[in-house]
Amino acid sequence: MTSDSHSNHFSTNASVPVKLVRCPNCAGDSVYAASNPYRPFCSAYCKNSDFVAWANEDFRVPEKPSTDIEE
Ligand SMILES: [Zn+2]
Repeated sequence: MTSDSHSNHFSTNASVPVKLVRCPNCAGDSVYAASNPYRPFCSAYCKNSDFVAWANEDFRVPEKPSTDIEE
């Protein structure tokens, strides 16, 4: 097992300060820097997911129970 070098690639370069924030979509680590065009999201996937989420929220029609009750 010599594949340890593949993990934690964010924190290996200790000389480069990287600000990490929490991704609003997946709550994972997100690089808050110019190198991350999707900030504060961690990836394009999360950014799009969030957009779809609020878009659905915006277009969602509240379901009302049928009120035509005849008595
Ligand atoms: Zn994310």
